Amino acid sequence: MEILRTLQDLLRWRSKLDSPIYLVPTMGNLHKGHEELIKYPLHHHKKNNQKTLVSIFVNPTQFGPDEDFESYPRSIEKDISIVESAGGSAIWAPSVDDVFPDGDESHFSIQVPKKYISTMCGKTRPGHFNGVATVVMRLLTLSRPSSIILGEKDWQQYIILKELIQDFNLTVKVIGIPTIRDIDNLAFSSRNKYLTSEDKRKSILLPNILSKASKEFKSGKLKSINKIKNSLKEAGLKVEYLEIVNPNTLQSVNISSNFSLLAACVHCGKTRLIDHIFLMNRNPIVAIDGPAGAGKSTVTRAFANELGLIYLDTGAMYRAVTWLILKEGIDPNDVNKIQHIIKDMKLEIVNNSNKDSSIIINSNNVTKEIRAPYITSIVSIVSSHQIVREALTIQQKKIGVNGGIVAEGRDIGTTVFPQSDLKIFLTATITERAKRRLADLEQQGHNYQSLEDLKVEIKERDIMDMSRNISPLIKASDAIEIITDGLTIREVVERISDLFRSKIPQEIWPSPKI
Ligand code: C5P
Repeated sequence: MEILRTLQDLLRWRSKLDSPIYLVPTMGNLHKGHEELIKYPLHHHKKNNQKTLVSIFVNPTQFGPDEDFESYPRSIEKDISIVESAGGSAIWAPSVDDVFPDGDESHFSIQVPKKYISTMCGKTRPGHFNGVATVVMRLLTLSRPSSIILGEKDWQQYIILKELIQDFNLTVKVIGIPTIRDIDNLAFSSRNKYLTSEDKRKSILLPNILSKASKEFKSGKLKSINKIKNSLKEAGLKVEYLEIVNPNTLQSVNISSNFSLLAACVHCGKTRLIDHIFLMNRNPIVAIDGPAGAGKSTVTRAFANELGLIYLDTGAMYRAVTWLILKEGIDPNDVNKIQHIIKDMKLEIVNNSNKDSSIIINSNNVTKEIRAPYITSIVSIVSSHQIVREALTIQQKKIGVNGGIVAEGRDIGTTVFPQSDLKIFLTATITERAKRRLADLEQQGHNYQSLEDLKVEIKERDIMDMSRNISPLIKASDAIEIITDGLTIREVVERISDLFRSKIPQEIWPSPKI
């Protein structure tokens, strides 16, 4: 591992590298929370030949006049051994003069927009986030990383830096890491050093009170923030703020909001502690809609595997019902007869250990058969009947009731899960979709017509799916459109994963380790 003391050291080290660099900016006095940030590239991006650069810089511009800049704990020798054993490639520990050679007042600085600092620490630490944003901008431009790794513990800082990077269109990926906690649940923080043993006893009540509030929220019992405030006071903690905000915009929201952040800052003896918990009554839901052949199934399955979400292919359910109707010799337009079938049918989706799923209808495993062209040509008629849609929608909603799911189809974002946390509308030109369908069919061993015939069929199915009366295929107003022409599967999955991450904190739904 390299130890870079000066700006020259850093620039020399940087100029020799062409592999991706992950920057972990810290103020030193490293603890287990930092260790997780440093380990992330090794656990999640094994094949990248990446380098992890840990900067250690106690930034004077983010401390207020009465704050602890002088006494902030510094422990460089211990930090070096922690970075080394966590797998870091280099430490950059510049002096204030290296980062601000002419004094911080002589350099350009960043002004964080008011909307991000009207709540939480933004309100109680004036100027703090301007100092953070300014120094991080300098660290980024000097070290030129491809990714920056930030702890979600400092949630407001994490959002502000993410917005800064997006606003300046910097090509740096922001990776958030969940808060790491000690066995007593107290979030690791460099300032925990200041806690006396009496303070320690009191401080652990902070995470426990927040965690109790989140459980009460889940069971619908959390009615007022004052009760939580009182619990904190009774625990001997002095409340600087306790707020409920929208996790992404940081604006104050009502306690009944579906997804919010309960953020607290308390003083325990001489130590200022911040902590938070998300208030959410279910796990995340992702909706992926779009026309036939846009690559939905492949992409959705890969995305589900990558994030450990349940994968629900709703098209397969409509296909299975179509199979049953045809097997029973029923006319696909005969709603009366279909009604009887639907009433008694048993449709099961069995998730196999190899992450594929089987579709079983009335004890028949139809997983393969439902992909046959004779099903494809009829399914849009069957799926246009209200009776069919109602039955399948009820079943789909049940499967997703606790969230933790990505569902693909035509009406997921509009009808099945209109409350989805992320809605994607995946599409491609007809030619591209026909080409992909042809490749799929060939791979599945189906003899099929020409590309031109497939184009006609896809167009017909589009028209039927888009023009039916009930839950037609349309892009939900809050869906993000991805046109997949010219993109590889990997690129689309990555784009969706990035969008998911921009909405869902790792703390709520962590990316599984690879
Ligand atoms: O996606 P897939 O091609 O398997 O879908 C088959 C058909 O099922 C679609 O063309 C559409 O008619 C119907 N469907 C639907 N609503 C969904 C999913 C599929 O109507 N959510």
